[in-house]
Amino acid sequence: MAEGFNELRWNPLLGAWVIVSSKRRGRPWRSGECPFCPGAPETGFGWRVLTLDNRYPALRPDARTSRASRGLYEVKPGYGYCKVIVESPQHEGDLSDLPFDDLKLYVGELIRVTRELCADPNVQHVIPFRNKGEVIGVSLTHPHSQVYALPFVPPRVAREMESMRRHWEERGECLLCSILRLELEEGERLLYGNGSFVSFLPFFAMWPYEVHVYPRRHFGSLCEMSAQEVEDLADALKVITAMYNSLFDFSLPYMMVFHQRPCRVEAEYFHFHVEFYPVHRERDKLKYAAGIEWGAWTFTYDSLPEEKAAELRQALLRGLASLGARGYRARGAPLGGGKVD
Ligand SMILES: [Zn+2]
Ligand SMILES: [Zn+2]
Ligand SMILES: [Zn+2]
Repeated sequence: MAEGFNELRWNPLLGAWVIVSSKRRGRPWRSGECPFCPGAPETGFGWRVLTLDNRYPALRPDARTSRASRGLYEVKPGYGYCKVIVESPQHEGDLSDLPFDDLKLYVGELIRVTRELCADPNVQHVIPFRNKGEVIGVSLTHPHSQVYALPFVPPRVAREMESMRRHWEERGECLLCSILRLELEEGERLLYGNGSFVSFLPFFAMWPYEVHVYPRRHFGSLCEMSAQEVEDLADALKVITAMYNSLFDFSLPYMMVFHQRPCRVEAEYFHFHVEFYPVHRERDKLKYAAGIEWGAWTFTYDSLPEEKAAELRQALLRGLASLGARGYRARGAPLGGGKVD
């Protein structure tokens, strides 16, 4: 039985759904007690990675609406799922701290959850993401990610898809494969590469320390990864987060998002990738999506991406050293740094 209301309201100005959920009842977490630690009421014991239902889901399969549609004002049930993936039985840490075998389990769980949620014919898109740090509003420090299963393709993914489709039709090749080739050619924004993935700060970054992780092979979703690619993605996530945590003298907050093709669109032109958006622009300054960024959807970048990439490359070396000191041998190596004329 749904508590409260979960609905989608159509924003006719932007052509986008807003997910609305009213105050949800339910017992709050008892303060001081971590809901994700082993032995908590919903977790039990004996797991390395665990998927839970979000206790306060924005979307739910038994959603009910607070009102009917009226003219331009369209309302639909907020159908869908909100899952939490608890990444480790350890209470603290980042992806860089997870044992490699657990990171592989984590990637495997993202695949399993994507497949399971896409099997619901009313789900159009599955988007896993990870918010880290109090400045991003995350108070629960126990390492966890979230997965939203949406009844629509979200605008950002739809926009990327449209660009990829157009490039595919006009140029006969994949947009991300083309971007990857350019990044490999120019070299100066490259960070890390292993057998299957390349990580770089893109030419067109919007956040100062934004990093994209692209698979070298062209495929569209988490579910299409080979065992080797699962391993190499786990390695890339470990190394990139170690790099971030070596950038300053604190554990760096970030958002991490997996962009994959929608559940029910063939979209052979879609190239799976991961995007990281840290919100710092300097050690003690945050980058806000403020007036021009949010009001105009136009980002300003207050330095050169090539300069930030050089900073990140130094942090990468420190990150790899700290992983090495903890007994981890990275599957790949730092890339790039060369300047193109
Ligand atoms: Zn905990
Ligand atoms: Zn591609
Ligand atoms: Zn993307």
